[in-house]
Amino acid sequence: MATLLLRNADRVVTMDARRREIEGGFVLAEDNRIVAVGGPDAAPATADTVIDLAGHVLLPGLVNTHHHMFQSLTRAVPAAQDADLFGWLKALYPIWARLTPEMVRISTLTAMAELILSGCTTSSDHLYLFPNGCRLDDSLEAADEIGLRFHAARGAMSVGESAGGLPPDALVEDEGAILADTRRLIETWHDPAPLAMRRIVVAPCSPFSVSPGLMRDAAALARSTGVSLHTHLAENQDDVAYSRERFGMTPAEYAADLGWVGPDVWHAHCVKLDESGIRLFARTRTGVAHCPCSNMRLASGIAPVPRMRCEGVPVGLGVDGSASNDAGHLLGEVRQAMLLARVGHGPAAMTAREALELATLGGARVLGRDDIGALEPGLAADCVAFDLRGLALAGALHDPVAALVFCAPPAAALSVINGRIVVRDGRLLTVDTRVLAERHNRLSRRLVNGE
Ligand SMILES: [Zn+2]
Repeated sequence: MATLLLRNADRVVTMDARRREIEGGFVLAEDNRIVAVGGPDAAPATADTVIDLAGHVLLPGLVNTHHHMFQSLTRAVPAAQDADLFGWLKALYPIWARLTPEMVRISTLTAMAELILSGCTTSSDHLYLFPNGCRLDDSLEAADEIGLRFHAARGAMSVGESAGGLPPDALVEDEGAILADTRRLIETWHDPAPLAMRRIVVAPCSPFSVSPGLMRDAAALARSTGVSLHTHLAENQDDVAYSRERFGMTPAEYAADLGWVGPDVWHAHCVKLDESGIRLFARTRTGVAHCPCSNMRLASGIAPVPRMRCEGVPVGLGVDGSASNDAGHLLGEVRQAMLLARVGHGPAAMTAREALELATLGGARVLGRDDIGALEPGLAADCVAFDLRGLALAGALHDPVAALVFCAPPAAALSVINGRIVVRDGRLLTVDTRVLAERHNRLSRRLVNGE
C-alpha cells in the first residue's frame, strides 16, 4: 500500500457536511482513497510521498458534467463564430462529418489535458457522432492514457433533415445499431464499483436529433443495466419552440413523458426550464449541467440556477463543447457561473463558495457519485492545489478561497487523481502538451479545411 501526504496547505477546502476550511491542513491518502483529513496538529509525521503545500489552497478535484471534447478541433471556426444554437450546429455538422478515430483520440486528449490543468479530476464527455469508423472507445482509451476519471456518454443522432431533424442525413445512425453499440460499450467498459475510473452513460443527443422511440428505448437500456442517462434539454427558445411544435409539450413535459427524469438522469443547459419544470426536477432529483460560457457564447440565455438550487435540483457545472465555449477551463467556468448568476439574478444570487460547490459536490451528485466531490476519509483521492503566490491573486489573500473564483483563474499546481500524481509544479506528467498541441493543430487544419 502506498501513502501520499499533502500537508501544510494554507487552506484545505473540504466540502464536507460542515463545509470546513482548515488552515495549515493536510490530506492523507492510501492508494486511491483518502484516509485522513485534518489540521496541522493531527498531521502524520511522514508517508511514502510527502508534498508540502505552503502557499496553496487544496480542494476536492473539480467535476465537469458536460463536454464534447472532439469539438476542440473546431474552436472559433469563422462561419460559426456569431450564430445562435441551430445556425452554429448547421455550420459545423459538415465539418464534423470528416471526423476520424485519430481525431477523436487526439482532441479528447487535448480537452482532457486542458481540463486537468484547470483543476478537473472527473469529467463526462458526450460524443454523439460516429462517422468514418469513430467509436467511443477512442475517447475511453485517451482517458486511460492521460489518467482522468471519466464518464463516457454514448451520444447518438437518428433523425436527419429529411425526417424533420436538424443534422444532415449522412450523420445519423440506425436506432438498432445505436442501442447495440451502447450495450456493447456498457458490457466492455462500465465499472459500477465505488471509486470507478470508467463509467458509461446512455445519451441520445437532443430532442431535435433523435426520435421519442429511441429516447424511451435508451431509458429502458440504461435502467436494465444500471447506468445513467444524459441529453441536452431546453437550451434556448428555439429548442422550446421545436418541442412545442413537434411534440406538443414543453421540454420538461417531454422529458417526463419519456421517463427521462430521476436521480439517474441529468440534462445539459436547461436555460429555459420553466417553474413547473424546476419543481418536477426537484421532486424527481433530476440533475442539470449548467454551462454558463456556452450559454453566453450562443446567447441562449441565463439559466435559473438560483431557483433550481433553492428548490433542491442537483446542479453541476459543464464547460460544454469546445466549439461553443471555446475554453475548457473548469475553474474559469466556476467564475463565469458566479458572474452570470449575478447578471441574471442580482449580486447576492451566488457566492464564490456556492459556485465552487457546484463544481465539486454538485457535479458529483449530478453524475450519481458519492465517492468524489469532497475531501473526506473513504472518498476517492482526487484533489487539486492552486498556488496563491502569483500575480493574479496578489492582494486577495485575506480570503484565498474566494480569490480563486473572483480573480483570473490560475492553472492547477498539483493534481492527484485516484491517488496518482498527474500534475506536479504546474506540469502535466502523463502527456507532453507541446507535442499534443502540434498534432492537434495538424488534425484541426485537416478537419476544418478538408485537406
Ligand atoms: Zn452540449
